[in-house]
Amino acid sequence: MGLPGNQQKQDIRELNYTDILSFFTKSNDKLFRAKQVYEWLWKKGAASFDEMTNLPKETRNALQQHFSFNRIAIEKTQQSKDRTIKTAFRLHDGEIIEGVLIPTENRSTACISTQVGCPLACKFCATGSLKFKRNLSAAEMFDHVILIRKQAQENYRLTLTNIVIMGMGEPLLNYENVMRAIGIITSKEGLDMSPDRITVSTAGIPKMIKMLGDENIKFNLSVSLHTANDIKRSSIMPVNKRHPVEAIKDAIIYFYQKTHIRITLEYLLLDNFNDGLNDAKELALFCKNFPCKINIIEYNSNEYSLFKKSGEQKTKAFAAFLESKNLIVNIRKSRGKDIDAACGQLANKKHVVIRQLADEP
Ligand code: SF4
Repeated sequence: MGLPGNQQKQDIRELNYTDILSFFTKSNDKLFRAKQVYEWLWKKGAASFDEMTNLPKETRNALQQHFSFNRIAIEKTQQSKDRTIKTAFRLHDGEIIEGVLIPTENRSTACISTQVGCPLACKFCATGSLKFKRNLSAAEMFDHVILIRKQAQENYRLTLTNIVIMGMGEPLLNYENVMRAIGIITSKEGLDMSPDRITVSTAGIPKMIKMLGDENIKFNLSVSLHTANDIKRSSIMPVNKRHPVEAIKDAIIYFYQKTHIRITLEYLLLDNFNDGLNDAKELALFCKNFPCKINIIEYNSNEYSLFKKSGEQKTKAFAAFLESKNLIVNIRKSRGKDIDAACGQLANKKHVVIRQLADEP
């Protein structure tokens, strides 16, 4: 049912607290209802107006009449041998995005998406091969978290301890919504999670990294560097042509000066591409400019991949060189490889196949 003039109803979760308050003022309803509604939306993660049982029926009807409730729904889940769960979520407009639950012994991490597809088209990433459709709203990101948190509780009796915003899409190209989602997730009136349990991962948009510095954020930032060499980086990450390594370096220096947060550099080790001694030297030089840690990530290839993962010896030698330069290095084994839930593998497979075939000469 639409509003007069055939207007679409607005998703109630697009409203901030002041907007909800003004709705109740205009409706001559009790103003404390605004707080109740806000709590249902963001503290209790309600999925419909019917769940708001402490509101009178008339109030719920009035809300229903004016607003929609664009929840995301689980379309499909896949469980890996290592207990990682990948979920395809259907959005209210039919688009599909993916999120991942990564459980360990005593903690669980939700990896969430920020866009449908991704405009940056990194060559090693399945999402990058999908056409960019749109940004996710803050509420859609929030829903991911709520649904994955439920999976952690129901499947493994684990509390959700961490969130990594490194699923499909470039978070800093959906800046406002990502910041709003994090605000809700970390606020007392929302999920009350500590910001230092949240990591945002970017391909490196210098202007936005500086903006995060200016906002004096409290969550963690990781930059997907993958090589400190401009020619190589531009060949796998087209975004590097606009935002080269030097500009990213300056932005990280600025970010650190403002926030004193040690950033993480993500480095996907690709066989015979960025895993040589010279590559390690270039990376070490880059890292001298600010405090950081380096995550070396195992690459997951699929039948369409242009790259292969580096061998164990090369990986160890690469890490050892960096450590000899007093850098903090972690080698990250991928999780959920058998269900395409690991880093760079998130994509609706059908779309990848279509795109790959379409790209063939
Ligand atoms: S790696 Fe990240 S930024 Fe690059 S295409 Fe994939 S989702 Fe987009």
